[in-house]
Amino acid sequence: MTRYADFHQRSITDREGFWTEQAALVDWHRPFNQVCDYSQPPMARWFVGGEINLCHNAVDRHLAARADQNALIWVSTETDEERVYSFRELHAEVQRMAAVLNELGVRKGDRVLIYMPMIPEAAFAMLACVRIGAIHSVVFGGFASGSLANRIDDAVPRVIVSADAGSRGGKVIPYKPLLDEAIRLAEHKPSRVLIVDRGLAPASRVEGRDEDYATCRQRHLDAQVPCTWVDATHPSYTLYTSGTTGKPKGVQRDTGGYAVALAASMKHIYQGNAGETYFSTSDIGWVVGHSYIIYGPLIAGMATLMYEGLPVRPDAGIWWQLVEKYKVTVMFTAPTAVRVLKKHDPAHLTAHDLSSLRSLFLAGEPLDEPTARWIADAIGKPVIDNYWQTETGWPILSIANGVEPAAGKFGSPGMAMYGYDVKLLDENTGAELTGANQKGVIAIEGPLPPGCMQTVWRDDARFVNTYWKTVPGRLVYSTFDWGVRDEEGYYYILGRTDDVINVAGHRLGTREIEEAISGHAAVAEVAVVGVADAVKGQVALAFVVLKDPALAGTKEGAAGLEADVMKTVDQQLGSLARPARVRFVTALPKTRSGKLLRRAIQAVCERRDPGDLTTMEDPTALQQIRDQLDVA
Ligand code: AMP
Repeated sequence: MTRYADFHQRSITDREGFWTEQAALVDWHRPFNQVCDYSQPPMARWFVGGEINLCHNAVDRHLAARADQNALIWVSTETDEERVYSFRELHAEVQRMAAVLNELGVRKGDRVLIYMPMIPEAAFAMLACVRIGAIHSVVFGGFASGSLANRIDDAVPRVIVSADAGSRGGKVIPYKPLLDEAIRLAEHKPSRVLIVDRGLAPASRVEGRDEDYATCRQRHLDAQVPCTWVDATHPSYTLYTSGTTGKPKGVQRDTGGYAVALAASMKHIYQGNAGETYFSTSDIGWVVGHSYIIYGPLIAGMATLMYEGLPVRPDAGIWWQLVEKYKVTVMFTAPTAVRVLKKHDPAHLTAHDLSSLRSLFLAGEPLDEPTARWIADAIGKPVIDNYWQTETGWPILSIANGVEPAAGKFGSPGMAMYGYDVKLLDENTGAELTGANQKGVIAIEGPLPPGCMQTVWRDDARFVNTYWKTVPGRLVYSTFDWGVRDEEGYYYILGRTDDVINVAGHRLGTREIEEAISGHAAVAEVAVVGVADAVKGQVALAFVVLKDPALAGTKEGAAGLEADVMKTVDQQLGSLARPARVRFVTALPKTRSGKLLRRAIQAVCERRDPGDLTTMEDPTALQQIRDQLDVA
């Protein structure tokens, strides 16, 4: 057995040899002639000269050996439906969708925006796009019109694929009116909109623009749409993620590097084998959904279980019931979901036969020890943390049990994964911290391994300046996370270095929420901070200075305005960005130069010491925040 340390070492010192071997895990139409072109750092081009297709690797190549095996299992506890597609059936459905997209004018390189609930057609649409070389941009269904409009204007899609509605906790959420409003707000107008009508909500139709998917599909039942071979460096998709500014970044991913990275991760990290079932509870709107609901498991020849519904409905046993029914071997969820389950009777877990399950992976936010222990005891299987980002597409830190079994450590997402030259750097000097237990910024030396973001969509300068120029004197990728490493190479994550917060595993930019709130007519100024929460990890709190403070002068006035501000956020960004509380103050804590003291506000909210306040302009401002915390 290979020692993991050697495996990792080789991935850095012999990139060519290492990744050439990994590249053999996928099918190439034309072999590459250069493993990595890093002649223009930090832009890395992987598998140059190679031609490949992601859909071929996820679907077509499995037809020879496993056409009748399950490929996509869809379970909705929202609509009480269950559908299973074999690889043969998935192949047919993807070609039908591809033919419809072709008919609507989609060509190689065009963008297709996908704004959909967790239904099989969303998977078909993603796979159909990469099949024909179109670039998909999935926008999480929970985002509201304002967020969607921004993404439409950035991606400039030829076609948008959507649905009449989603459903959450039994409540129908109409998507079509949100989409229509977003298109109205956006400057770019997509030429066609394809709607999957689930019969959940009445949807109005714009003549000449909107098409009904079922009707279109009917015309292409026997469609045969061959895969379009694309350069390994051709973008497969963009996915928007929040940062420090109000404008989300379009993370752009390549094709060849991504296919190889996912195939390798399925083998070395997740240990998923062809013929087995993978169950990731994420959503296609997030990076985990892209990598480990759609592409990763399918590339590995596994069935992927796609679930629409809550983890506790009809009861907290539903996920484990599915594990039993579909003999899931690898499962992937977020710590928040486990904390939700923890509030329910553990009998829901033990009532099911989980013998098929090999391990449970958790990611997206810090995994606290009590949560890790609870779930490990409850399921009696290894619980493996993994740390990564939308930008990287696959784990930076984890345990590569597929290479060499290693014990995890509570509180640590593990060690640097192969391909990642992880460094801890001093924030101020850029010096590398080589000793154990020194706190620094987690950074990655270029080139980033295959599968990581190529650039920010249409904005190379933003990619370079945002990610590579934050550490003085060095061109190095910053994760914007603090960390320490112990003497055995295990890392511990200590929170973000920027103003990004993590609510229930979802990344939110406090600037975005502030901008939405500033749009409210009564608001003069606002500060949004992330505050520790027992279930969601963090929640957002908003402190608002009103143009007319008298408006919040009474308890009723303040309550009414709070609801109103929350509604503004719901309408612009979506309810996931809604602050848990909105409180009114007459001044915000700032430095004398006018910089908002977010860290101090956050510390006060978490009842910690706010630190050195000598540069603070108005000391009463922090006291006001403190006073507001006790307001019910
Ligand atoms: P996202 O791009 O939305 O997946 O968010 C990525 C961020 O989530 C990281 O930069 C971390 O701050 C946090 N994160 C993700 N996974 C973990 C983990 N396993 N442990 C701690 N923090 C995590």
